[in-house]
Amino acid sequence: MHVRTRVAIIGAGPAGLLLAHLLDRQGIESVVIDSRSRAEIESTIRAGILEQGTVEVLDRTGASDRVLRVGQRHEGVELRFGGEGHRIDFADSVGRAVWLYPQHEVLKDLIAARLAAGQDLRFEVTAERVEDAETDRPRVVARDARGGRVEIEADVVVGADGSRGVAREAVSGAYGGHFREYPFAWFGILCEAPPSSEELIYSNSPDGFALISRRSAEVQRMYFQCDPQDDPEAYTEEQLWRILRSRVPGTTLREGRVFQRDVLRFRSFVAHEMRRGRVVLVGDAAHTVPPTGAKGMNLAVADVVLLTDALRALLLERDTGLLDAFPRTALDRIWKAQHFSWWMTSMLHLQPDADEFDRLRQLGELRSVVGSEAGRAYFSEAYTGWPLPPAAADL
Ligand SMILES: Cc1cc2nc3c(=O)[nH]c(=O)nc-3n(C[C@H](O)[C@H](O)[C@H](O)COP(=O)(O)OP(=O)(O)OC[C@H]3O[C@@H](n4cnc5c(N)ncnc54)[C@H](O)[C@@H]3O)c2cc1C
Repeated sequence: MHVRTRVAIIGAGPAGLLLAHLLDRQGIESVVIDSRSRAEIESTIRAGILEQGTVEVLDRTGASDRVLRVGQRHEGVELRFGGEGHRIDFADSVGRAVWLYPQHEVLKDLIAARLAAGQDLRFEVTAERVEDAETDRPRVVARDARGGRVEIEADVVVGADGSRGVAREAVSGAYGGHFREYPFAWFGILCEAPPSSEELIYSNSPDGFALISRRSAEVQRMYFQCDPQDDPEAYTEEQLWRILRSRVPGTTLREGRVFQRDVLRFRSFVAHEMRRGRVVLVGDAAHTVPPTGAKGMNLAVADVVLLTDALRALLLERDTGLLDAFPRTALDRIWKAQHFSWWMTSMLHLQPDADEFDRLRQLGELRSVVGSEAGRAYFSEAYTGWPLPPAAADL
């Protein structure tokens, strides 16, 4: 099957679906493919924290009419260390907030909006490669669920296919990027229990890190630092709760049945190139961060805001300037977010080879942050998200 469109988008994650939505608002047609089924996409649990700018884009452009109704606004988090909690008040420090609204709910909203508008979105179609990147007719070669060949020819191909996609290779080569691996991972659980805390708790303890997050009145999300090789099934529920309790000393956890568990490895990555000719990478395809700073999906949204403006200029005004500038402009924010994610990770987690000096220095660092107006302001500014580019207002 041969398809011709203006923008071919590989990946129906937050980056791909939001890009398609914003392009449609500019009158630019696109085709989105994803290797997974709709049910799988809508049930995969990942991000939960949306920056203020992300929420404003989703709400103002009609991408989600539920984010403000169903999402929970949070004006602070607790940093817990040395047996005490310290609240970072975002509203007080920078006058901003974050929202707790799960990524799969954002995806449900975006998929529903696209299908309701009769726009082209194809599930279970897997891109195999991208060809002719350096021409003005790049192509995606893909297979549908029955093995049939699908070829999508476009003015621009966007790789929004995540950290294991194929577009990265067409742009940056399979290994072309800055890469950092961490000697620990997160053990994540979903449990049936009431919330243990009104706000998120990021806890540094002598046994390692834990994050007490929430999903709803009945379901909670919690994580603790673990070995990347850990087998999620190797722990009994009692062991999981014992570890979590020991990681947030001074807080009483509300416990309940654990119904999902996974081990999440930590990586930082930034591709050497985000664009080759008419093929562009956005979101996790171009960069990944450890989840500690809650930046991954928010960065994908920031990329997409910039790219929409660049594609509008290219495809409606034949102006290549913004597309030429796209990687440099996007990388400013990407490296700030890389730093913040790395910094939060290193400040809160226990390095496997840490000695007493390291532990005490880490506590000194945490005290510097919570005890200083400037420290709290930096944390709040980065966590709630730097302002989006001015183009966001016109989308
Ligand atoms: C446990 C966890 C917690 C997180 N918490 C946060 C948070 O609180 N805040 C935050 O901002 N971020 C968070 N993140 C990160 C966030 O989930 C990702 O950064 C985000 O999903 C990136 O979106 P994306 O659209 O770029 O990529 P993805 O969501 O990975 O989407 C890529 C899509 O492409 C599809 N695809 C892949 N290969 C192909 C192919 N060959 N052909 C066709 N389709 C393909 C995939 O099926 C997928 O649907 C978290 C991540 C995890 C794992």
